[in-house]
Amino acid sequence: MAPAQNLVSSKHVAVIGAGASGLIAARELHREGHTVVVFEREKQVGGLWIYSPKSESDPLGLDPTRPIVHSSVYESLRTNLPRECMGFRDFPFVPCVDDFSRDSRRYPSHREVLAYLQDFAREFKIEEMVRFETEVVRVEPVDGKWRVRSKNSDDLSEDEIFDAVVVCSGHYTEPYVAHIPGIKSWPGKQIHSHNYRVPGPFKNEVVVVIGNFASGADISRDVAKVAKEVHVASRGSEASTYEKLSVPTNNLWIHSEIETACDDGSIVFKNGKAVHADTVVYCTGYKYKFPFLETNGYMSIDDNRVEPLYKHVFPPALAPGLSFVGLPGMGIQFVMFEIQSKWVAAVLSGRVTLPAPEKMMEDLIASYAMLEALGIPKRYTHKLGKIQSNYLDWVAEECGCQPVEPWRTQQVDRGYERLVSNPENYRDEWDDDDLIKEAYEDFASKKLISFLPSYFPKSGR
Ligand code: FAD
Repeated sequence: MAPAQNLVSSKHVAVIGAGASGLIAARELHREGHTVVVFEREKQVGGLWIYSPKSESDPLGLDPTRPIVHSSVYESLRTNLPRECMGFRDFPFVPCVDDFSRDSRRYPSHREVLAYLQDFAREFKIEEMVRFETEVVRVEPVDGKWRVRSKNSDDLSEDEIFDAVVVCSGHYTEPYVAHIPGIKSWPGKQIHSHNYRVPGPFKNEVVVVIGNFASGADISRDVAKVAKEVHVASRGSEASTYEKLSVPTNNLWIHSEIETACDDGSIVFKNGKAVHADTVVYCTGYKYKFPFLETNGYMSIDDNRVEPLYKHVFPPALAPGLSFVGLPGMGIQFVMFEIQSKWVAAVLSGRVTLPAPEKMMEDLIASYAMLEALGIPKRYTHKLGKIQSNYLDWVAEECGCQPVEPWRTQQVDRGYERLVSNPENYRDEWDDDDLIKEAYEDFASKKLISFLPSYFPKSGR
C-alpha cells in the first residue's frame, strides 16, 4: 500500500449510475467519510438488472438518435455465475429462505439479482443519496474541480461543482456489431442481443446466432424452443466445426465462423455449409461509451480501449478527481466493483496516495506494450480473464483490504468450465460442492449468515 502523505479529508463526490457499481461506490465513499450524490436516470436502483420488455427502435443499435433502453437483460436470463461468488463481500448473495417470492436457486433469475441489489441499497441506506430520474449530460474539469450538468425528468438542467466524479454508468448498452462480409446486401433481419427479450418473434424461423459464450449459448437455446432451426457461429471453433446438438430441441447446429452473407438470403460458414436464414442475432458484445464526458481531448476510446487509465480506474493527469469503477468485464464483477471503490474512496480521502502522473503513465505504457507483445488486440485491454485475481489482489493490497477469497475465483473458473462443457445445464448440474461448502463456512465464520440453503452439501455426501 502506498503510504498516506495527506491528512485524511472528506470530499464532495458525484457518482454516475446506481447499478451494482454505483451502489457499492456510494457505500464505500460514504464509509470513508465523503459526501455523495448518486445520479441515476432510471426510477430505481439496479441498472442492468432492471428488466424491460421494451427494446430499442433500432434492433442493431446503430442509430445514434435512438432513445436508449439501458438494460440488456432477456426474460429467461439466469446469472452466469454461482450466487455465492457473485455477491458483495459483507452482504452475501444467499437465498432468502423465508420469502417464497424469491428465487433460491444457485444460479437465480435476473429478478433475484435486482431484489438483492434493492436489499443492499436498503440495508446501507443508499437510496437516500440517489437522485432518481436525473441524467448526467456533461462532466468537465474546472479549476481543479468537476462541473456536473444533469437533467431531471422535467427536462430542467442544473450545474453543480464536485471535488470528484466516479463514473459507474455501465458498459452493456452500446452494441458492438461484428462485421460480416456481404451483410449490406443480405435481405434478412438483424438484431443485437442488447435488444433480444423473448423467443416468440423467431417462431418457425431459421436463425443464425453469432457468438457462443454466455449470452450466445443462452439465446440460441431460448430461440431454438420456437424456431425451425438455429445455427450458431462460434469464433473459437475450428474452421471445420459442424455439429448438430440433439438436446434440448434437436434443431441446433454449431458451426465455425461466418465466411459471408449473400444477397440470395444465405449465410455461408467457414465449414462450407450454407443456410438460408431469416434472422441474424449478434451476441458479439458491447462498446464503452461515456457521452457525457468532456476531458478536452485528454481521454479517448480507441478500438474499445478507454485510455489512458491507470489500472483501469484512474486517468493519470485527471486523477484522483475522475475515476471509473467497473470497466473490466467478465469474471467476478461485484467484488471487483467493491475493491475498486475502496481504492477510489481511500485515494480521495488521502489515506492512500497514487504514484505521480508520469509514473502512472509509464506503468500504462508498459502494460499496453505487454499486451501488444502477447498479441492481445487493443479491444481486449479491459478483458482481464485469468489475470483478474492478480489484478484484484494488487488493488486490494493498495487500499489495505483483504485479497479475494480463493474459493470465489475457483467458483468462477469451475463455473466457466461447466458453461463451455455443458451449456444446457451448467446452472443446475455442478461438481463444486466443496467450494459451496467453503463459501458458506466463510460466511458463517464472519457471522454473515445464520442458515444454510437446501442445496448446501450435507455432511457425508
Ligand atoms: P449497470 O448495471 O449497467 O448500471 C449503470 C447505471 O448507470 C444504470 O442504472 C444507468 O441507468 C445509469 N446511467 C448510465 N448513464 C447515466 C447517466 N448519464 N446519468 C445517470 N445515470 C446513468 N455479472 C455478474 O456478476 N453475474 C452475472 O450473471 C452477469 N450476467 C450478465 C448478463 C448480461 C446479459 C450482461 C450484459 C451482463 C452480465 N453481468 C453479470 C455483468 C453485469 O453487467 C455486472 O455484473 C453489473 O451488474 C454491471 O453493473 P454496473 O453498475 O457497472 O452497470
